[in-house]
Amino acid sequence: MSDIKTELYFRDLFEHTSDLVHILNLQGQIIMVNPSWLFHLGYTFEEVNGRSIYDFIKTDYHPLFKNNRNEVIKGYGTKEIEFELITKSGSTIVVKGQVSMLDNKVDLPYTRAVLKDITAQKLIESESELIKLRLSKFFRHAPDAVIVINEKQVITEWNLKAELIFGYNYDDAFGKPLSDLIIPHRYREAHLQGMERFMTTGHGPVLNKTIEISAMHKSGHEFPVSLSISNIKIFDEWMFVAFITDITERKNLESIAAQKETELLQSQLLDQRKTNFLSVASHELRTPLTAIKGYGQLAYSLVENEPDSKMKTFLIKMNEQTDKLNHFISELMDLSKIENGKLSINKQKVEFDKLLTGIIDVMRPIIKQHPIIISGSVAARLEIDSTRIEQVINNLISNAEKYSESGAEIEILSYIKQDFLIVQVKDKGIGLAAENFEKIFDRFFRVQEITNHVNGFGIGLFISSEIIKQHNGHIWVESEVGKGSTFSFSLPLAD
Ligand code: ADP
Repeated sequence: MSDIKTELYFRDLFEHTSDLVHILNLQGQIIMVNPSWLFHLGYTFEEVNGRSIYDFIKTDYHPLFKNNRNEVIKGYGTKEIEFELITKSGSTIVVKGQVSMLDNKVDLPYTRAVLKDITAQKLIESESELIKLRLSKFFRHAPDAVIVINEKQVITEWNLKAELIFGYNYDDAFGKPLSDLIIPHRYREAHLQGMERFMTTGHGPVLNKTIEISAMHKSGHEFPVSLSISNIKIFDEWMFVAFITDITERKNLESIAAQKETELLQSQLLDQRKTNFLSVASHELRTPLTAIKGYGQLAYSLVENEPDSKMKTFLIKMNEQTDKLNHFISELMDLSKIENGKLSINKQKVEFDKLLTGIIDVMRPIIKQHPIIISGSVAARLEIDSTRIEQVINNLISNAEKYSESGAEIEILSYIKQDFLIVQVKDKGIGLAAENFEKIFDRFFRVQEITNHVNGFGIGLFISSEIIKQHNGHIWVESEVGKGSTFSFSLPLAD
């Protein structure tokens, strides 16, 4: 290329490049600037010609610029520089580029700078930094572990909770690929594929929803976490923010609860089966028993008038045993009714003293071995299911008989206290220890020491207490071992 052509070529470049070009003499005065330089700073060439470049450089950068030029002038080649220029309107622009000596042929030393305006880029960078800084501060003390990764899945944020639950501190984690740190080996491939898919398609199946997954601690052990990942675009760069909670404790509690529920269901099922069995069995027993009782009575009527008949004695005994069995079956039926919530109570108004006299009249011939004394009976008006209350009194008197020596007196006392009638059945029997006062009203409870000698199933008092409860009353015992027991119950007086 001829000299003229070369010069034309360079001039064209000088005139039309978007870079800012200035040429200074050794004193730093402007010898030449290109149109882009003038355009960016808002001057005409006449306004800047011969002026010191330092008039246009922000004061903070004067030492940097001076040093840079000195090095270049001393022959140390081309220097990179970034600084700020002041425009005619007083604003500043950030420029970046190279300063070097002008290759001249007239032996006049000049420096030349070719600069790019990077103000916009700087602004974006600083804003993006600011946003990241704000996010980082915001996440630092968050109650969840917060981990931020960039598009290359490199960790850029790792808060205090993340340090705590994963065992890596910030310095261990910062700049590392996420998959190397906390993702169990078997999920790593899927994680990388997921990231890739998102970068190419913009879709991520795990984004913006909460999932439960295994994570890996620094020590290598895995633990369950709940994870939700949000994606944010800061300027041109995607960031992925993961919020992670350690759910080990919750999972443990859940599995304990699930196990308990299974156990409960099983025991409820078992209970239900037992109750059903009770109900069916007691009905099935009752039918043949009624027939046995009927035929027994019929047979008795045939020998009734025969004096000293052995058959008569046998049939009386058979009848007594049938009654016992009948009583026991009734208790079983009541128990199954209580367990099914079907124990029905039909209340009617009654005079209690009349009811009591009737009950004792029936009981006396049965409880032959014990005198039954009614003391302090009162004419109280009650609204009760007489049959059920009779059942309670029978049960208490039968127990008094069962748990005391033959011949020992049984006393029935009733009196009114506030709005209640109190009925007491007192015996002089074996008594009870205080620790059993509550327990004896539980189903199937029997005092150990006596269960071997006295027949029973431990359901009579349970049924009695259910009956009294359904009458809005209360049942309790006072007793002393070896001296006797007083069983009492209360019933509200009718209006
Ligand atoms: P059962 O008499 O068939 O065992 P109950 O429910 O009527 O069933 O009584 C439960 C337990 O309470 C009895 O096994 C016995 O240990 C105790 N008990 C009940 N009544 C008396 C009493 N009058 N004196 C001493 N202990 C009694």
